[in-house]
Amino acid sequence: MTLDLTTYIRDVPDFPEPGIVFKDITPLLGDPAALEAAVMALCSPYREARLDLVAGIESRGFIFGTAVARELGVGFTPVRKAGKLPRDTHEVSYDLEYGSATLEVHTDAITPGARVLVVDDVLATGGTAAATCELVKRSGGVLSGVAVLIELVFLGGRQRLSGTPVSSVLTVS
Ligand code: AMP
Repeated sequence: MTLDLTTYIRDVPDFPEPGIVFKDITPLLGDPAALEAAVMALCSPYREARLDLVAGIESRGFIFGTAVARELGVGFTPVRKAGKLPRDTHEVSYDLEYGSATLEVHTDAITPGARVLVVDDVLATGGTAAATCELVKRSGGVLSGVAVLIELVFLGGRQRLSGTPVSSVLTVS
């Protein structure tokens, strides 16, 4: 019997601000069978992709990204918010609804030519994933894809990432 992973994700209305329905993945993380199924589903499209590295987006992308990297037998690098990484970084800024945000990766984290999979929990407007993809390219990496647990299809993130394969375990229309 396959698990219905949607039953392990809670909708939290108006968090962190009014109008946002936050996808709370903590019940899924807390259940060993659901966590296992989620990681296996994230990995499934990439078993033959000959990846070299997983890049996980702060912060919930760290949780799934390291599990995916471990399962696929490759390394992991964190893509962090500005000012968190201690050595030289590449950085990319992108627009948020109000203001902007910056993501960074260590300049020596991605070997030129490395095949990189970007992992996060939720794909919404795609701005965060697009900035991460730009960091991978700026590092000389080759983008193998973007893998997310939940894709909020109505926000059009996939279109923003056109040219990069996107896989999602669950979709919300
Ligand atoms: P975006 O850049 O709009 O695609 O937003 C994606 C980032 O914001 C991801 O790192 C998610 O963790 C987080 N995020 C966006 N929308 C939600 C949501 N409804 N529930 C949980 N996390 C979200």
